[in-house]
Amino acid sequence: MDIEQFRKAGYQAIDRICDYYYSLQDRDVVPRVEPGYLREHIPLQPPEEGEDFQVIADDYQKFILPGLTHWQHPSFFAYFPTACTFEGLLGDLYAGSISNPGFNWSSSPACTELEGIVMDWAANLLGLSPAFHNASGVGGGVLQTTASDSALVAVVAARSNYQREHPEVKMEDLVIYTTSQTHSLGAKAGLVLGLQVRSIDVKLEDQLSMRGNALREALEEDKQLGRKPFILIATVGTTSTGAVDNMPEIREVAKDHPSLWIHVDAAWAGMALACPENRSKLYLDDINSFAHSFCANFHKWGLVNFDCSTLWVRDRRNLTEALDITPVFLRTKQGDAGTVIDYRNWHLALGRRFRSLKLWFVLRGFGVQGFQKYIRRCIELNQQFVNLIEFSEDLSLATQPSLALTVFRVVPKPRSPEQATPSAESLNDLNRIFYGRLSARHDIMLTQTSLNGMFCVRLAVGAARTTEEHIRNAYNIVEKEAKAAIETWDQ
Ligand code: PLP
Repeated sequence: MDIEQFRKAGYQAIDRICDYYYSLQDRDVVPRVEPGYLREHIPLQPPEEGEDFQVIADDYQKFILPGLTHWQHPSFFAYFPTACTFEGLLGDLYAGSISNPGFNWSSSPACTELEGIVMDWAANLLGLSPAFHNASGVGGGVLQTTASDSALVAVVAARSNYQREHPEVKMEDLVIYTTSQTHSLGAKAGLVLGLQVRSIDVKLEDQLSMRGNALREALEEDKQLGRKPFILIATVGTTSTGAVDNMPEIREVAKDHPSLWIHVDAAWAGMALACPENRSKLYLDDINSFAHSFCANFHKWGLVNFDCSTLWVRDRRNLTEALDITPVFLRTKQGDAGTVIDYRNWHLALGRRFRSLKLWFVLRGFGVQGFQKYIRRCIELNQQFVNLIEFSEDLSLATQPSLALTVFRVVPKPRSPEQATPSAESLNDLNRIFYGRLSARHDIMLTQTSLNGMFCVRLAVGAARTTEEHIRNAYNIVEKEAKAAIETWDQ
């Protein structure tokens, strides 16, 4: 493809993307395809000779689009949103156009310089302490692919920091702390690094939040057994229910365990820190005063196209001392002088995408107020859904709603005074039927979860085009499927 052919194909691509967005609302959210569908349409070998791009572009429309789940659809309420804005999309396009893996400052100064500045913008937006800013020269922020990578990097840094302080400690005694509600990123870090993971139980009556006493008991027990807990992955806004670990209590415990690194995973809920009214319930002051590292994903609820995970550390040396390997071919004058950030030493890979460009475009395009407006609107829409559930005959909240997330289940009102109260297992059966009915639909998407054995359904608001009408429609569908499930339920 030459430059003029690219110009033509590019204009067509933008036209088609605009048409896609105009038609999004009329599409199914969930595709009607079966596993293996694509093999019927696409050859199993690449072509011997290059094909005309028009044919390739048309095949995208014909075979790929029908197999997509539309995460930007206004009735997509599953998992968490993965934001997509035109500003972010254009950022990705420009970044793709230069395909620049700016791993060292000198390999592309603008990539490093922009990331350094924009990470401070993002820290300011979320109210993070200046201690985490790149401008501090001590702490700093870096873009990672995902919250899982951010956590892995934090664990690697914490382990190397702990081993420096306690060189006598054996690797097999090191323990990563999580809770039963921590995203699988905690267990995965243990798996990848060959480290033990201890998952602390949390209770429904505590809204599934980690409490200080449970943490203290686990730490004391491990100490007696000679184990060495070196990092706690605390969560501000868990995946299942949006639970927030009790940071003030964790902070008190951490005072007695100064070698314990505290990593805060706020992958989705962290975006709500942009609005000052959410800061105290998300314990921002505690995060600012004692967390060693903090992660939030702009690619979830932060309007930036996937991927864009922000990781801040209080002391950048913990990253570079754990991850700096500099063969001669990577040495540079500026790196040797220590006057620049070489981001390759702040993450696992060498090369890195130019992600700061889309973050910069989005933060400029929306401004702080536009960003706040979007977050507030999602929270209001979720509250609208909560209000409907609270007035429902058959549906109940399973936990306190959290920001833009509601977890609920079918709990039918007794149809007669003689009707026996259903057992927990029977209610779970009912809710599985209910979720089975919801997930067989193509016009809406929600996800399931289990809270200490209680089967529930989650609704997460976040798609940029969701309106009150979509929330009402979601509620009507949910209510209808609940009634249908109750009818087929063999109590
Ligand atoms: N942490 C939390 C609290 C999440 O909700 C999620 C995903 O939903 C993750 C981590 C994983 O994010 P990523 O895909 O960026 O690793």
